[in-house]
Amino acid sequence: MILGSAYLKSKTLVVALLIFGALPVFAQNYAIHAGRVIDPSTGTVLKDRTIIVANGRIAAIGAADLIAKDAVVIDLSHEWVLPGLMDAHTHLSLTEVGSDALPLESTYLRDSTAYRALRGERNSIALLQAGFTTVRDVGNSGDYAMQDVRRAIGAGWFAGPTIIDSGKIIAAYGGQSHEIPPEQGALWRYDYIDADTVSEIRKAVRTNIYHGAGVIKLVLDNSPYHYSVEEIRAAVDEAHRAGVGVAVHVYGGEPADNAIEAGVDSIEHGFDLTDLQLIKMKDKGIFLVGTDYPRAHLDIIGTAGGVFPEPAVLAPAIIDRLKRAHRIGVRLAFGSDTVMDVPGRTRADLMLDYLAVWRAAEVSPADILKSMTSEPARLLRVDKTRGRIAVGQAADLIATPADPLSEIENLRRVDFVMKDGRVARQRGANLQNP
Ligand SMILES: [Zn+2]
Repeated sequence: MILGSAYLKSKTLVVALLIFGALPVFAQNYAIHAGRVIDPSTGTVLKDRTIIVANGRIAAIGAADLIAKDAVVIDLSHEWVLPGLMDAHTHLSLTEVGSDALPLESTYLRDSTAYRALRGERNSIALLQAGFTTVRDVGNSGDYAMQDVRRAIGAGWFAGPTIIDSGKIIAAYGGQSHEIPPEQGALWRYDYIDADTVSEIRKAVRTNIYHGAGVIKLVLDNSPYHYSVEEIRAAVDEAHRAGVGVAVHVYGGEPADNAIEAGVDSIEHGFDLTDLQLIKMKDKGIFLVGTDYPRAHLDIIGTAGGVFPEPAVLAPAIIDRLKRAHRIGVRLAFGSDTVMDVPGRTRADLMLDYLAVWRAAEVSPADILKSMTSEPARLLRVDKTRGRIAVGQAADLIATPADPLSEIENLRRVDFVMKDGRVARQRGANLQNP
């Protein structure tokens, strides 16, 4: 044991450990004085409340003068406090579009799983600092790099968000690669599992769950051939029996029809979904994780090797699809799919660029907040413990110095982050020990 009793006498060290969240065993109680408390799940805003945090959870919410014994007081009386943000579509261990714009396959040749885990760690830290306390990471992480990132966060090696990750992406032969010369072999299997029959799909799902997957990701329309309803149903059946959801990468057309028919949990991207498909999704409670790329990002991504139409065409189509989905009442979960590195900006900065698209689609700040908290919590199957400010929920809390309900871009100004009851960022807070 490195941390003997002599070390524990150093109060400075204990406080430092609490701030950086290094050791979950030192659970500190907090009394957070909040100027406003926003609960996006109900749309309520409460004024001058005190949130008591004990053992990593919200123990009580009461009047401003509520006192808890032995609690460190956190003064956020000039701030707006809300649940931590969520992103339902990340690839934290992947950088696909860099300044040299190499194809996806170059990742397999250049980045070891260890290197990808380190990238995942770097991005996880940046996300938590920006207020993202839960993410669903949907693959492209080599040999399960994100499982190790999740494990390291769980062990308290560094503070990061709760991560629900998919393991390898399951697809029909070839993953998302095309025309790889036979001499090179199936190099895409670094990131993908080829599964071409019902039994192969079931085995692929079990393989990922064995390696810790909290969601199964299928790619449906990356080849002239695609999964039938029966094949997708096999994945859904196998995943659901293990308590895990199914996310499918699909743009539209018959593959999307098959996914909706098979009862998947979410459609990722869905840029070409028709109103009829969106209505069916609404009726079946299937989420849209729209990965609604901002125009500035599309200008960098380009046509992604001919996969996308020109940015001038795709950008307005994405806004229109989000607007239709919201009007129809499809359940929406914010998902960015950001895989770029831009000098001087963090991955989290880039993710928040998507807010502009949601505004352009005329989604209200209240509905955007819901799509970044309680709705993804439901999709990610963590809603019993995360996504709301309510007694019994994990203390995943953030604060901004200005109201995000009047201007959603204020989410860029997050200056306080608490993750599972530990302070991860405190610029906006004044901490007073008892
Ligand atoms: Zn993606």
